Amino acid sequence: MRVQMVLGNWKMHGSLVGNKTLLDGVLAGLAGVDGVTCGVCVPSPYLFQAQFILQGSPVLWGAQNVSQYEKGAYTGEVSVSMLRDLGCSLTLVGHSERRAIYGESDATVAEKFVAAQQAGIKPVLCVGETLDEREKNITNDVVKRQIMAVVEKAGLDAMTNCVLAYEPVWAIGTGKTASPQQAQDVHAFIRALFADKDAELAQNLTILYGGSVKASNAAELFSMPDIDGGLIGGASLDTTEFVSICKAAQPKAA
Ligand code: PEP
Repeated sequence: MRVQMVLGNWKMHGSLVGNKTLLDGVLAGLAGVDGVTCGVCVPSPYLFQAQFILQGSPVLWGAQNVSQYEKGAYTGEVSVSMLRDLGCSLTLVGHSERRAIYGESDATVAEKFVAAQQAGIKPVLCVGETLDEREKNITNDVVKRQIMAVVEKAGLDAMTNCVLAYEPVWAIGTGKTASPQQAQDVHAFIRALFADKDAELAQNLTILYGGSVKASNAAELFSMPDIDGGLIGGASLDTTEFVSICKAAQPKAA
């Protein structure tokens, strides 16, 4: 079902003491906030702490990456069953930093997507173009290729149980946000990719925008018809910013 959602991506930031302050602040700040699902994707070593602090609360927790393999000789990797043990309900797959720095291909991302879903963990599939690709006017081609690699591997039905995140690479951590219209155009394109195959699926897809979202620009972005919330990096490390962004994603009637 299409839901309003805001997820924090802490990237490689955090400490036991700092995390507790941040998560306690988020829990307090979100009390009484309705109609928006909020969650945090924390570094794997802190998933246990997130579970301890957040279980029983409406705030979800999840990972920033997961192995496509179930178990074995994969030093340094974390499996879906480990994430399940730690109560994760979601995991990012295909974040642009994983694609660019660690060389994750569309095929690898698709394998991770399937592994997560089979374990009952909702994959948050991140897609987006580089600045060079935008300037070459191939944004839609890139986004389509990244999504279709997953659809081909996982099947169309699998898309009913995931979240998509459109994150233009040039907007991540740069302070350069896509304009609401630029983001809306790509979100509408993504929804349209599915509309001819399954109109209900397309309508129900939750599509988040990520890339330098802040409290000051969130409401305008989230007011666009095909933007269902955000994936938040830097601003998710600041309680006040993150809580304000979550509030900005509340449905207008709430
Ligand atoms: C991200 O890391 O997914 C992200 C969107 O980062 P930022 O909000 O800092 O641009």
